[in-house]
Amino acid sequence: MSKISRRDFVKLMGAGGALSAFGLTGCDTAPVKSSATTPAKAAPRVVVVGGGFGGATCAKYLRLYEPDLNVTLVEQNASYVTCPGSNWMLGGLRKIEDLTQNYNALRDKHGVNVVIDRVVGVDAGKRLVALASGKTLAYDRLVMSPGIDFRWGEIEGYDEAASQIMPHAWKAGPQTVLLQKQLHAMPDGGTFIMAAPPMPFRCPPGPPERASMVAHYFKTHKPKSKILILDTKDNFSKQALFMQAWEQLYPGVIEWVPATGGGKVVRVDPKTGTVYTSSGSSEKGDVINIIPAQRAPKLAADAGLVNESGWCPVNQSTFESTRVPNVHVIGDSSNAGVVPKSGHTANNIAKMTAAAIVSLFRGVPPPQPSHVNTCYSLVSPDYGISIAAVYRLGENGQLEGVKGAGGLSPANASAQQRSQEAGYAAAWHKGIVSDTFG
Ligand code: FAD
Repeated sequence: MSKISRRDFVKLMGAGGALSAFGLTGCDTAPVKSSATTPAKAAPRVVVVGGGFGGATCAKYLRLYEPDLNVTLVEQNASYVTCPGSNWMLGGLRKIEDLTQNYNALRDKHGVNVVIDRVVGVDAGKRLVALASGKTLAYDRLVMSPGIDFRWGEIEGYDEAASQIMPHAWKAGPQTVLLQKQLHAMPDGGTFIMAAPPMPFRCPPGPPERASMVAHYFKTHKPKSKILILDTKDNFSKQALFMQAWEQLYPGVIEWVPATGGGKVVRVDPKTGTVYTSSGSSEKGDVINIIPAQRAPKLAADAGLVNESGWCPVNQSTFESTRVPNVHVIGDSSNAGVVPKSGHTANNIAKMTAAAIVSLFRGVPPPQPSHVNTCYSLVSPDYGISIAAVYRLGENGQLEGVKGAGGLSPANASAQQRSQEAGYAAAWHKGIVSDTFG
């Protein structure tokens, strides 16, 4: 993509030129004086917030595309547990250690400044990011990839405290461990209830995959137990494939109640382990997994990035916010139109955004974006299904699905094909983790 060499890039930056926007505002690093006669050597600074699939990929690829960039990744936790694979953990197929990543390669191999701290505010006017430690970081461009937050209270009685009793496990880590412990402690013959969230939420095939993995655990450890999915929707991702597999692998174990059947959970009582639905009925569960409605985190809202949808509108080519200049929002927090919220798309869009940012710094047009998404789900250890799609920028500036590209696993695949797809799922996880964190 390079029309301007690395040497030119730094010269250009030093001379002001196309990079005159690099007002080096005060921060904890010394301001660099810049003039046409005394070229400054400081590189443009990009701060990336959030070291998940979006942020970590973007930080890494910014450095790969333009090694002269000064890239700082701020992440609140020293390690990251991938949500992909966390359902497999509930099925007994993975341990938390298998899903845990660190930032060593980003720092040591790719030269990203990794800062373990929590971002508490963004001053877009001054282009400063404030950290919980009291430090500030100045940026020329900011990339926000803080993931999701929950719309606590939308289900009466379900707040952060209630999630310690009825875990959501929709951010992998301690919540996944808690849910797993509850499943292990549950008596055989018990009921696992899952409340599935409304769209848009991260990983649309995640809830039915979780039900499948819990069903696998029950089949192998607690065969008299049952699963009840209470849904806010009338359909779900890969529905026909999942239902066909449930019939075959776990007959009579999983019951799904759609919204029109009264499935929407409207209230919970963590003390008695009861959920109340829109139909006026109540259900008691031995283990209750509430996956609440989602939105972009408060940090993004406080920075002025969020609109009435609860998500961050962006230019779907560069992923620059349409509300706040010089700030790009990627991953689940962004509203990428038809593109689903997934680790795969977060990783893809992060690379495209890195390329766009480097282009903007170089004063050349950003490349035309094209994205792909593949979501594998395991229904059992050797039964995998997938959905894939390709997206490109339409004439209206919005991403759109490419007709004829992608698709679903075939309905009547052989056992061998299902087993192959289960292998692809594991390989996909290995590949995306290595591409993001390696
Ligand atoms: P995240 O990965 O959540 O990263 C956000 C990061 O920002 C976190 O590390 C967080 O600590 C950090 N952060 C937040 N606020 C701050 C702050 N103030 N300061 C500093 N750091 C902060 N996707 C797939 O493609 N395939 C799958 O098979 C798949 N399976 C899934 C299964 C489950 C059960 C779930 C819940 C999700 C799954 N996903 C899957 C979806 C995928 O996990 C998300 O879409 C992806 O993680 C989004 O990446 P992100 O960078 O937007 O957010």
